[in-house]
Amino acid sequence: MDVDVVVVGAGPTGLMLAGELGQSGMRTLLLERRPEPSAMAKAGGLAGQILQMLHYRGELDRFREARGGPARPEPAPRFPFGGLHLDFTQFEDPPMRAMLLPQPRLEAVLAERAIERGADVRRGHEVVGLHQDEDVVTIEVRGPDGPYDAAAQFLVGCDGGRSRVRELAGVPFPGTSFPEIERLASVTVPDSVTVLDDGSLDVPGVGTIPFGYTATDRGVFACSGMGGTMGVYTAEVEATEYDDDEPMTVAELSASVSRVLGIDLPLGEPLRMTRFGYSAKQADTYRDGRVFLAGDAAHLFPAGGVAVNAGMLDAANLAWKLAGSVHGWAPPGLLDTYSDERRAAAERTLLHTRAQVALRRGYGPGGDALRALFLELTADEQPLRRLGELMAGTDVGSPVSGAHPLVGSFATDRAMHVDHEDPTFAGVLRKGRPVLLDLADHADLRELAGQWDGRVDVVSATIDEPPADALLILPDARIAWAAAVDEPGKTALPALRESLFTWFGTPAT
Ligand SMILES: Cc1cc2nc3c(=O)[nH]c(=O)nc-3n(C[C@H](O)[C@H](O)[C@H](O)COP(=O)(O)OP(=O)(O)OC[C@H]3O[C@@H](n4cnc5c(N)ncnc54)[C@H](O)[C@@H]3O)c2cc1C
Repeated sequence: MDVDVVVVGAGPTGLMLAGELGQSGMRTLLLERRPEPSAMAKAGGLAGQILQMLHYRGELDRFREARGGPARPEPAPRFPFGGLHLDFTQFEDPPMRAMLLPQPRLEAVLAERAIERGADVRRGHEVVGLHQDEDVVTIEVRGPDGPYDAAAQFLVGCDGGRSRVRELAGVPFPGTSFPEIERLASVTVPDSVTVLDDGSLDVPGVGTIPFGYTATDRGVFACSGMGGTMGVYTAEVEATEYDDDEPMTVAELSASVSRVLGIDLPLGEPLRMTRFGYSAKQADTYRDGRVFLAGDAAHLFPAGGVAVNAGMLDAANLAWKLAGSVHGWAPPGLLDTYSDERRAAAERTLLHTRAQVALRRGYGPGGDALRALFLELTADEQPLRRLGELMAGTDVGSPVSGAHPLVGSFATDRAMHVDHEDPTFAGVLRKGRPVLLDLADHADLRELAGQWDGRVDVVSATIDEPPADALLILPDARIAWAAAVDEPGKTALPALRESLFTWFGTPAT
């Protein structure tokens, strides 16, 4: 065996996974076919539950600093949703958080983190074949110095929407592709165009193009002028398939505006240009024996803003399970929980991203009314919070029926009374290891969890208005088990024992 785990693809998912595996002591080889990191402006930042998880790891400031300037907490966002913006600024603890950090910079931080933790990151190495048996997975690699093979216990395909690993493993990727291309650009305002006070554009020979959306029988156009820049957006029904790695040009945008509006719109210098093709797809399974799929290789969502979140959460869910298998303590079935849990989470993301497409594509008075009504309903705190949790990927539901309502949810950060330099949930979860958090001085529960010493850390604390007497928290900050307040030992103990066996196998002692 050359390494424990081979990760294919150095996008956000593969880089996050390599860092997580390194944290768990795995010998990790990360293979990326591109010789250099991509400079493509894809995601504009991080959004959703992953921000909370990075905070729990004590790493969020490192990502904030990568933006340049001081590591200030980001304000509650107004986040795009189906052609609208949902306003989370009313919340002190917003259910949906967002942080600007262009994808190339995000990947640079993640790569640094993976290398620091011992991952062997090789660029210019393309995976072209794979073979697996009961004990090993062997991959064929085309590297700069010629072809070679590598053997590992596990292989994870984080190689994007057109995943070669998925194809080689024969995993179906069903779903829908919408024959629609959206183009979004920010350009400088050319001398011939005047930006009016309300953001509309005055174009000689054309007249005034109003701020906001204009629907025509060829598609949708939107513009906004501000300062010296012009935002331009088009959406057209087009069967053309684009390669995400092929940058959009001003000529391509200009041709699209002409088709939609029937005019030649003067455009200045490009500042940011992106193009989206819409797909809603999910792999039938994220596991085939020793081969796993994560990130875009496993799921594609038809609306933006949350795909990086989903991929990095996949990585956090999978890494410690692979480590448990390599270390030999993982119970049977643990690796399958990755596919089950993350497929269920992606179903929730598909639910809201598909709904966003329907909301955005409803044109005419009916569509306008639907959006206006939707905004009215989401002005109230409760539905907005619920939707925010869904968008953040926090709302993944409980996998265990009849369990404590907290089971399956992400642990919410709280201040605690505990002997720790950072007396919060985040503080005790910093090592990214499983924790039994005893909030009601239950020596019997602590003693039981102590049998899994080395796999589960045991922490005693108290908390004002405790949500439970005790919590078993997984490395990705989800709650695996909870004892209700004042729950007697005769029910709490067997339930905790069962949960410990389920997640961490036969006890070490
Ligand atoms: C224009 C645009 C804007 C976007 N905006 C947002 C946004 O605002 N928010 C958001 O969350 N998401 C956004 N996305 C989506 C986001 O960029 C992707 O979800 C994200 O990059 C997926 O990460 P990944 O690591 O799973 O896959 P990728 O980033 O696709 O990485 C896969 C890597 O695998 C490599 N690879 C492929 N095949 C092989 C092989 N055989 N051997 C070795 N290496 C291989 C590729 O070169 C690539 O580097 C946007 C996407 C686009 C195109």
